[in-house]
Amino acid sequence: MIDALVAWFEENQRGLPWRRTYDPYHVWISEVMLQQTQVETVVPYYERFLDEFPTIDALARAEEQRVLKLWAGLGYYRRAKHLMEAARAVVEKHDGRIPPDFDALIALPGVGQYMAGAILSIAFNKPYPAVDGNVRRVLSRVFGWAGGDPQALRDAAERLVRSAEPRAVNQALMELGATVCAFKSPRCLVCPVQGSCVAFRTGMQDSIPPVKKRPKTIHVRVCAVVHRRRGFYLMKCSEGLWEFPMFAELPAGSFTQAGSCRHTITHHRLDVTVYEGSLEKRDGYQWKDFQTVPVSSLTRKIFLARDQLQKRTSPTPP
Ligand code: SF4
Repeated sequence: MIDALVAWFEENQRGLPWRRTYDPYHVWISEVMLQQTQVETVVPYYERFLDEFPTIDALARAEEQRVLKLWAGLGYYRRAKHLMEAARAVVEKHDGRIPPDFDALIALPGVGQYMAGAILSIAFNKPYPAVDGNVRRVLSRVFGWAGGDPQALRDAAERLVRSAEPRAVNQALMELGATVCAFKSPRCLVCPVQGSCVAFRTGMQDSIPPVKKRPKTIHVRVCAVVHRRRGFYLMKCSEGLWEFPMFAELPAGSFTQAGSCRHTITHHRLDVTVYEGSLEKRDGYQWKDFQTVPVSSLTRKIFLARDQLQKRTSPTPP
């Protein structure tokens, strides 16, 4: 199975920017960005990030607000903070070199078993498994394990990664899960490991892994206030990101409704009504230039919602 898988990968892998190098810093940045985030979304962020912080020393010296500004829109901002902390730790404790050692890697902020395995195998070609969601699904189906016991999957991945070139095995498993062995409608007819796959043989692709019941969506209504003065906006900093004032109910002040937007965070759906005007109580807020501070996708949506309404209502030139 492994030879067919690796040969398929060599032939069919997508040309992604982080596959042009085995530089451990580049591998690490790509793996952090790819957690919970689609490949297509990551590509421009990855390139901009490495343009501005081409080395781990540059990242270790970076200002948090600048890093968050580059990360803005990618979500899960804790990842960016962990990256900065880990970069400083690598410079201080490992002379600026990412350590090719499992225990040293896993001691860095934000680095877990998967991340350490991915860095060790892809960058250093060491035989460590890297079992993410895609690899878990592929292995569960190939071995016909509906339960998906994490230790059994990890042991199986370890045996595979020891049987051929580690960086090729792990990347091939990841790629197969991302492009062929999809959660819904896996493309078994073009799959290189079809001959070894228990799920394919037994027709159990749809029941392995079992579908998890999603938590019910919780709808939340909020008001956002965009208070502008001389090109600056009243904003508040929350965990490094700047946001407009948000309330469950409209506070004291004078406002006009300017637009609306929706935003989903895990299973919460926010319905945001956007107001423009003047907030009476301004304690805890500062005047900020929206274009220069790091903001979340939600804050950007609020800004644009108000912008779109302005465009819709402004008179068209004769
Ligand atoms: Fe996945 Fe189908 Fe390939 Fe099995 S044969 S690994 S179910 S794509």
